Amino acid sequence: MKKNSMLLKVLVAILLAVIVGNLTGTTAGVFGFTFYQLFDLVGHLFLNSLTLLVVPLVTSAIISGLGQMSGEKSFKSLGLKTFGFYILTISLAVVVGVILVNIIQPGTFHKELTADLAQATHLVMSSQKDIFTGVLFKLIPTNIFEAASQMNMLGMIFFSLLFGFGMMHIEKTAHATLLSFWKGLFATLMRMTHFVMKAMPLGVFCLMAKVVASQGIESISNLAYFFMTVFGGLLIFCVVVLPLLLKFAGLSPLAHLKAVTPALFTAFSTSSSAATLPVTIECVEKNAGVSNRICSFVIPLGTSMNMAGSALYECIAVLFIAQVYGIDLSFGHQILIAILALITSMGVAGIPSGSLVSIIIILNSLGLPAEGIALILPVDRLLDMCRTTTNVFSDTTCAVLVAKSEGETVLTGTGN
Ligand code: ASP
Repeated sequence: MKKNSMLLKVLVAILLAVIVGNLTGTTAGVFGFTFYQLFDLVGHLFLNSLTLLVVPLVTSAIISGLGQMSGEKSFKSLGLKTFGFYILTISLAVVVGVILVNIIQPGTFHKELTADLAQATHLVMSSQKDIFTGVLFKLIPTNIFEAASQMNMLGMIFFSLLFGFGMMHIEKTAHATLLSFWKGLFATLMRMTHFVMKAMPLGVFCLMAKVVASQGIESISNLAYFFMTVFGGLLIFCVVVLPLLLKFAGLSPLAHLKAVTPALFTAFSTSSSAATLPVTIECVEKNAGVSNRICSFVIPLGTSMNMAGSALYECIAVLFIAQVYGIDLSFGHQILIAILALITSMGVAGIPSGSLVSIIIILNSLGLPAEGIALILPVDRLLDMCRTTTNVFSDTTCAVLVAKSEGETVLTGTGN
């Protein structure tokens, strides 16, 4: 009952935000202070308070999760299954994207090429990093405090895995002391998440009102075909592909959706799967009933590596840009783009517009015009909200699938 009333409040907040944001725009205000500035301020504070929890939460979740494993064997099997599900979901997302962009051909409807391109140059110049070394250096940083202060999730995860693994090999008393410390820290952070979530309706309202006030509907109409291709792809993935996977595993897609809806709303309004992480863990553990051992391993890792929605977006965006430029890509090239999208999506930061860098990397590595990224910028924010929601939905799906495969009784396992 309490859970439902929170969901209702968030839903009302989103609807109100659409109305209020439309009415105020970016200029209306009182006493020389615009409503837009107010939405920005409060929305930012909400986002900050969630993001504040992420670094200690990721570390304590992974270390306490590993500490509860019975040994290396169970760690290996869990790791393999988790990666297996990530690769499966990302591959399916990429396939949906490539098929849709070939059927709809959104790029052939977009003719005014040159007008949007000038502003992109600096973005392109600042993103010419090597595709693999970039991800690898992020994965193994030199300084854990630097990684934490830069919110380098891959680095934090690597360190935590190594730490947890080390902990498995020390003597019993020291292991028990450390484990109880990390478990206590994790439990405290989950409590803090609970407090922050009380402000969710207000935070979501402000973040949404800000987007509605600043993004006019005309930004969509100019790129309608591209927008609909990405949106359609994400919808098919979330409404058909992921539910089918759940169904095959004997789980109820509807019950799962209900369990994780607060995380989806948070993802939609923040456009950041990293900031959503505390809420995602709360939903998967408390509402979907996944054990702390699995949830604390699969969700932090997934938030950083399982970006199915972003991979789908990357594919469609690259192929769209090629279509606009009239570049005919062979089947082999399209497969290559799909593979690159899969790999680069694993290094995408869970922050707003995190995928843009990966799109530029793919364009560059294939010799496609990277400045074409400017074509999609007008609708990037709106599509970011949708793909972040997809990323989080895919993470939660992987978590319950892993839990089911480990023989756990997941709360959403009624098979409806
Ligand atoms: N905003 C996305 C996320 O946080 C990343 C992206 O695709 O830009 O999951």
